[in-house]
Amino acid sequence: MSGPVEVTDTSGHPASATATAAGVEVVPGRTTTVGGAAVRRVLPRRAHRTIGAWCFFDHFGPTGSGAGGLQIGPHPHIGLQTVTWLLSGRVLHRDSLGSEQLIRPGQLNVMTAGAGIAHAEETPPGEETTVHGVQLWIAQPEATRHGAPAFEHHAELPVVGLAAGRATVLSGDLGGARSPARQDTDLVGAQLDLGRGRSSVVLRTAFEHGVVPLTGPATLDGQSVEPGTMGYLGPGRTEVAIGADAPVVLMLVGGTPLPEPVLMGWNFVARTRQEIDQAHADWAAHHRRFGPVHSALPRVTAPS
Ligand code: MN
Repeated sequence: MSGPVEVTDTSGHPASATATAAGVEVVPGRTTTVGGAAVRRVLPRRAHRTIGAWCFFDHFGPTGSGAGGLQIGPHPHIGLQTVTWLLSGRVLHRDSLGSEQLIRPGQLNVMTAGAGIAHAEETPPGEETTVHGVQLWIAQPEATRHGAPAFEHHAELPVVGLAAGRATVLSGDLGGARSPARQDTDLVGAQLDLGRGRSSVVLRTAFEHGVVPLTGPATLDGQSVEPGTMGYLGPGRTEVAIGADAPVVLMLVGGTPLPEPVLMGWNFVARTRQEIDQAHADWAAHHRRFGPVHSALPRVTAPS
């Protein structure tokens, strides 16, 4: 997705996070629109700008049938990896490396921007237009953020059983299963498909975690969390009990808290204002660091 980060994403306007007796902070997201789809953005928020190196979390759709699906024209990224994951629908990814990849539910796209890449994401013409999924960003570490761009597609991912369901591992490892996806920073990312009941999920004590319900409410150590919010779990935990009264799909993200904050502006993740400004100028000037994308959709221009 384009996923433009705006001032309101990190400002103090929204209700602040609420810490509960269960040690779960319920962090309210905000609603916005990206490429024709309503999105619930739970990262970055003022209370928690990042979860480990996860720096952006949009839950989009489900879009209405006939609404045209997702239509996001060519736009640039630097310094981050995009992680695209669908619950329903299909999205065609095209980027300035020449990658062209249709992604379906249960498959993973990981695009590494490094010094610069451009891509477009759209519901293909003639396709069912209902689309539902998430797009996450991972801030790249110093070692790779100035490096070459790359794109990966994983058609199959490891699945581990839980007491009341299962987990599909997108990033890092969970319950002994490891994702094949490239990882520049120690992280975990998983989809949890839970039925009625309670499941204990083992957590890494060095990690902070966020749990985001996508299709209905759930409980974290007894604390209720709703779609559009994130349950934040601080470092030092060995597990969390996730409960549901009805089948529910959730996302789990985690990682070691970043030692220093990253700077985010529009579609860019960097460390200095100058780097962000240079990326804006280079995109406006059609600089070759971003390259052309084969898409009929109009090129996205940055908000002034
Ligand atoms: Mn994008």
